[in-house]
Amino acid sequence: MRLEGKVAVVTGAARGIGAAIAKRFALEGAKVVVSDADPMAGDTSVEAIKQAGGEARFIACDVSDRAQVASLMDRTIEAYGSLDIAVANAGVIHNHPFLELDDETFDRVIAVNLKGVFLTGQEAARRMVDRGIQGRIVNTASVNSVIAPTGLAAYNASKGGVAQLTKTMAMDLADYGIRVNAIGPGSVATDLFRAGILTDNEAMRRVEMRTPMRRASEPDEMAGVALFLASDDSSYVTGQVIYADGGRLAQGHVIQ
Ligand code: NAD
Repeated sequence: MRLEGKVAVVTGAARGIGAAIAKRFALEGAKVVVSDADPMAGDTSVEAIKQAGGEARFIACDVSDRAQVASLMDRTIEAYGSLDIAVANAGVIHNHPFLELDDETFDRVIAVNLKGVFLTGQEAARRMVDRGIQGRIVNTASVNSVIAPTGLAAYNASKGGVAQLTKTMAMDLADYGIRVNAIGPGSVATDLFRAGILTDNEAMRRVEMRTPMRRASEPDEMAGVALFLASDDSSYVTGQVIYADGGRLAQGHVIQ
């Protein structure tokens, strides 16, 4: 019960990595707000947590909209009386050759993946500071914060930004006792990934080729890293991106 008595909010928690983080936090004793832009899937995620014996509720929020993010943080405090942990995990992907990438796609990916992390962190941290809470913020970066697979210009730029934002937030919030870190997943077998890759032998072979551990990870393996960063086990860690990538970055060269 490493998060006993803590209140956590997790964005993009209706499915995938966010759902696994929310569930793991709840099973470690936290009261968890599952937040997502998709209310139907969000309710399913909450039900799964409750069935496993955890405490959770759903609050809808589009992380690219400051008013919605501010309301999410206020409603979390109203519901559970505190705000100790914020996980900025919501993200979207796209696939466009650079020459064909349009403004609308670029703006949306940056608005959700990068500005969403800024808004979530700032609205959470302001409330932590006001209440004297020595909170923890965990952002979801990616191996694409470092490497640049083709067709993903906006996504790669957004994730590079998340890594820099994480470090800068850690610097600016250290005096308040708030730690800020990120997880940097490699290939994670989320629903999206299963639909696109696991049904396609060639794509699956590419994942195995580019990953020294020769497999994708399960979402729960990312939850373990997020738990470490959200708990006292990482009490002297701030400003870090922990790449949980099956060894992909250690190879030192990009295999698409
Ligand atoms: P997913 O698509 O399974 O889940 C993402 C969730 O975010 C969805 O429930 C979606 O509704 C929600 N979301 C999208 N836009 C939103 C918005 N504007 N506001 C609030 N919620 C919104 O994806 P996932 O694979 O679980 O990805 C989670 C995070 O992990 C993302 O930031 C992604 O970039 C990152 N990541 C994933 C992988 C991977 O291989 N799956 C690898 C590296 C990084």
